Amino acid sequence: MLGKDYEGQDCSLARALETIGERWTLLIVRDAFYGVRRFSDFQAHLDVPKAVLSDRLGGLVDDGVLERRPDPDRGGRHVYELTAAGRDLWPVVYAMLTWGARHRSPSGRVFRHAACGTALDARGACGACGTTPPAADVVMSLRRGARTLRDDPVAVALRAPHRLLEPVATRPPA
Ligand SMILES: [Zn+2]
Repeated sequence: MLGKDYEGQDCSLARALETIGERWTLLIVRDAFYGVRRFSDFQAHLDVPKAVLSDRLGGLVDDGVLERRPDPDRGGRHVYELTAAGRDLWPVVYAMLTWGARHRSPSGRVFRHAACGTALDARGACGACGTTPPAADVVMSLRRGARTLRDDPVAVALRAPHRLLEPVATRPPA
């Protein structure tokens, strides 16, 4: 099996990839910025096998990117939230979203500075305010006319404008 470490690489990029370079990991981090917190919601939105999701969430908790705590609404369950180190990945996620939209396929989402409503530029900055807002000050919405391919509960909830890091409102499965 291919390992996840790059022992021979004396570089902080290699250290970062050991944490976020595995398949699915960065999409889990993206969903955490979108406000996904529950295992069942990650699973519904990502269609990732449960064993893989469990492994990736556990790894992100071990590496200090996510924090696992009791679900306040559902006894015996847990929620996963980004730590301060995890929230520092916002520029990475945004840069990759922007790169993908530029070089792979157009993005159906727009990210705006919550304080003024201005769409963020390619670097994640608000040109009107001259600041680069943290994820907590960013509102995501669907681009007008964008087609939404998924209809899972998370995708449906995220059709409405949504402030990043605020818990996404899905109905818990019975
Ligand atoms: Zn602004």
